[in-house]
Amino acid sequence: MSQSAPLVLRLLAASVPAAARAGKIIKDVMSGGELAIVQKGLGRNDLQTEADRSAQRCIIASLSQQFPDVTIIGEEGPSNPSDEVPSDWVVTESEQDILCKQCPSEYISTTAEDIVVWVDPLDGTSEYTQGLLDHVTVLIGIAVNGRAVGGVIHQPYHNYQTKKDVPGRTLWGLVGLGTGGFEVVDPPSDKFIITTTRSHSDGIVVKALEALKPDEILRVGGAGHKVLLLLEGRAHAYVFASKGCKKWDTCAPEAVLEALGGTLTDIHGNHYSYAKDVQYPDAQGIFATAKGVDHKSLVSKIPQELRDAFPN
Ligand code: AMP
Ligand code: MG
Ligand code: MG
Repeated sequence: MSQSAPLVLRLLAASVPAAARAGKIIKDVMSGGELAIVQKGLGRNDLQTEADRSAQRCIIASLSQQFPDVTIIGEEGPSNPSDEVPSDWVVTESEQDILCKQCPSEYISTTAEDIVVWVDPLDGTSEYTQGLLDHVTVLIGIAVNGRAVGGVIHQPYHNYQTKKDVPGRTLWGLVGLGTGGFEVVDPPSDKFIITTTRSHSDGIVVKALEALKPDEILRVGGAGHKVLLLLEGRAHAYVFASKGCKKWDTCAPEAVLEALGGTLTDIHGNHYSYAKDVQYPDAQGIFATAKGVDHKSLVSKIPQELRDAFPN
């Protein structure tokens, strides 16, 4: 069965243990105490650690060994071919539960040329360096013909404050098939909660939030973590009127959210393309809503002068 499963299903099934292995590396680097932080860009809170670098090497080595013809784009750039990846970082197992599922008909004949895999080996690096460990996720997104359709979100430190030696958890989704790895909860009906950045805010980010008049704002790290809040009914919307996120931040979260019936677009309400030749920045911002929230009417509340700051 597994050998003959369609490529999209095999790729998703292989991404689940690969993300979990990367999560173990992230924890090992933290407990080793040598984060080896470097400043990546010119901006505030644009950091890379040994964990980001090693987790990416693990994921890319694991997936490229099994799927050599698939394009994989990782946040930390191409690896040095002379860098040997430790053999215990190369994962070749697959999540059997996914392989056994019926593949949605639209992906049955998808080939490697139609696919781009977007990898954020550690989303929420600022928070990782500051000890806000449950904000950290590992993101593997699968785009088919430019659309984000498959995704894995691994949260290595899930429940770390209440339980010792937690294994973390791995959520997945495929549009047309559904989701797994978490309990679906609807957001509360008596108040309106928005989640947004905690470390990359500015005047425009704040103005967009004010226009939506939330009862509560949850400022947390990571695009993956914020979408987890939508999946678990802890917020209704994730709004970030900024060019700061990149395709690897949103591909997996968008796919898992949309597989559940939610929506992730730019602040104009348009889906991003995740084709291999796109620009990396999500230059029109992020606007995501939980299942059951009217995305279109919420997007329409963003004033035109704010939208004008994010031309298409
Ligand atoms: P945040 O919601 O601020 O945690 O950001 C979500 C993701 O987008 C993280 O991977 C951040 O590193 C990235 N990001 C957001 N804004 C910026 C920015 N201004 N510069 C660099 N990365 C950013
Ligand atoms: Mg990220
Ligand atoms: Mg990252």
